[in-house]
Amino acid sequence: MTEANTQPEVNIGLVGHVDHGKTTLVQALSGSWTDQHSEEMKRGISIRLGYADATFRRCPGVDEPECYTVDEECEDGSESEPIRTVSFVDAPGHETLMATMLSGASIMDGAVLVVSATEDVPQAQTEEHLMALDLIGIENIVIAQNKVDLVGRDRAVDNYEQIQEFVEGTVAEDAPIVPVSAQQEVNLDLLIDAIESEIPTPDRDPGESARMYAARSFDINRPGATAEDLKGGVVGGSLVSGELSVGDGLEIRPGREVDEEGQTEWRPLETTVRSLQAGNRDVDTAHPGGLLGVGTGLDPSLTKGDALAGQVAGEPGTLPPTREEFEMKVDLLDRVVGKEDDESGESDIEEISTGEPLMLTVGTATTVGAVTSARDGECEVSLKRPVCAEEGAQIAINRRVGARWRLIGVGTLT
Ligand code: GDP
Ligand code: MG
Repeated sequence: MTEANTQPEVNIGLVGHVDHGKTTLVQALSGSWTDQHSEEMKRGISIRLGYADATFRRCPGVDEPECYTVDEECEDGSESEPIRTVSFVDAPGHETLMATMLSGASIMDGAVLVVSATEDVPQAQTEEHLMALDLIGIENIVIAQNKVDLVGRDRAVDNYEQIQEFVEGTVAEDAPIVPVSAQQEVNLDLLIDAIESEIPTPDRDPGESARMYAARSFDINRPGATAEDLKGGVVGGSLVSGELSVGDGLEIRPGREVDEEGQTEWRPLETTVRSLQAGNRDVDTAHPGGLLGVGTGLDPSLTKGDALAGQVAGEPGTLPPTREEFEMKVDLLDRVVGKEDDESGESDIEEISTGEPLMLTVGTATTVGAVTSARDGECEVSLKRPVCAEEGAQIAINRRVGARWRLIGVGTLT
């Protein structure tokens, strides 16, 4: 296989209600690929935002959509040709992990919404996740109507119609709905066909400066490693623009908090790229798409335990400013989505008020901010932990409703 076809070039989010089959579907499409990540990458990155690469392939001489497969061998024994490698971001369906789902959304180029045919539509997180895709502006969507092996024809048709009705008027209105069984591997060819046509690889300009959103960071050294064996800190995440090569300079913002004479301040980190891991192997140059592991010259204590998760890395001197406070334009939802009937808290969304705490997701960063001033459709927040973000950045706004944080709207940094 050529390298071009095995480096993932697009990130596809897997979203939907818990137990509807997201992880099973990723496994069916990606086979053993995730296992090929080095142990550190797997331990470090797959857990919270599970990335898995899948190479879509085509069997020569076979009609669409039957020609599509993820197997290297076709039914007639011939070898399939790789078409495109995609990286699935398997967002957790559990409701309290909404923030993680949203931080994944900032690096998704499209999404597969998995809906189980065995339950009425919509279930709580089906609705909440679709709303999030809508808010964040992810428009390339394919709907997988999963578990069709468990229902009869009538039920499958009813459920299909429920899905159609549910997505009406949303960003997923025109999304194809593909009946599948992730577990029995039924109709995966149709699903690949739909993904190939609905979720294209975005046009990217390799000349743009490199910009990476860090989702994780870690120390890959074994306890007790000697000083000369010690490897520099590793940052994992997605490149959203430009290219990154071994030897390039790298700035990371906000960086680290330094304490000087009782004053704390955030200082950017600067280092060089020592190694790159993309598409399950070491590369000299990485492109946007998929999960990227960047080996740096940083002291591993700086990257340990996700210390740099949520930060932004790129060509020195090109990153957006670090902000400890900012102003944003606010669009609120009409009502809280994804709430079960028996949960406490209001369903109507009140205007944001001065003094209230909000949980904000900016890029891959999640931070708590206190509202220092609020007017109609605008507010100012002061952050507990600063973020690196540019004007126009989209922010998912969560408020404490009842016992948990709920998505209440989206902000645009002004
Ligand atoms: P997730 O929470 O959305 O990631 O759901 P999982 O992939 O963990 O699946 C939840 C359960 O549903 C598991 O027991 C799967 O084996 C089962 N499952 C997933 N897809 C199918 C399917 O297409 N058919 C059947 N019968 N079971 C499925
Ligand atoms: Mg799962």
